[in-house]
Amino acid sequence: MEQMRATARGEFREQVRGKQTPGTAQGRAGSRGRSARLATAALLSSLLLPACSGPESAEAPATCETPAGARTLDVDHGDSPETPWPKPDGEELLVYFETSGLSERYARMVEEAAGIWSGSPCLNAVAVPACPAEGNCVAVEEEYSGGGRNTDGEFTGWDSGGVREGGRITLYTRLLDETSDNGALATVVHELGHALGLVHRKDGSDVMNAFTDDGTDPVPDSTNFYNLAVIYDADA
Ligand SMILES: [Zn+2]
Repeated sequence: MEQMRATARGEFREQVRGKQTPGTAQGRAGSRGRSARLATAALLSSLLLPACSGPESAEAPATCETPAGARTLDVDHGDSPETPWPKPDGEELLVYFETSGLSERYARMVEEAAGIWSGSPCLNAVAVPACPAEGNCVAVEEEYSGGGRNTDGEFTGWDSGGVREGGRITLYTRLLDETSDNGALATVVHELGHALGLVHRKDGSDVMNAFTDDGTDPVPDSTNFYNLAVIYDADA
């Protein structure tokens, strides 16, 4: 995962985050390095990060409500925060994902991923060819290479006044084109998860973990939907 912040103007803050993908051609070529890196990451996590107390998983809520004081669960404390979109009271948050710049394979996956996240009672994620002039918009784009980095997807968000104003997902086809439909969908779901306000999970098997591969279940577990309710329940 890579992160970068730059202050462009006033409260504007841009955040870039990528996802590393062990199950790629590049990863396979350097599998020993990958294992070492994963082991190092696990060691650092156990040494440097504060222990979480309380439960680490939760049922998906039927409504966008969580108990007062509820906190997101199983999140990676070493990850940089995401910023929530402004959610209208009593209504579901609506976020558009613009797919006109995508080839058919990835446009279809964005549509599928948006449908998956729309299972949350807090939000509707909608894939559209082009975002309407008004409304929350995340452009999804394709690039061939991530500049030599071992990443197949990246989310950039821009915020103002503590709320999200927009964002962009970049899908890197050099790696994604070699990835199975299951693995590529996991990447798309992962990046949409960031775009909707979720940070990385500690659970190594979850789609919001910093690492995903061909075997990752692209369907988020119930704790992700609980965490979205924590983030977007205005009364919590
Ligand atoms: Zn990520």
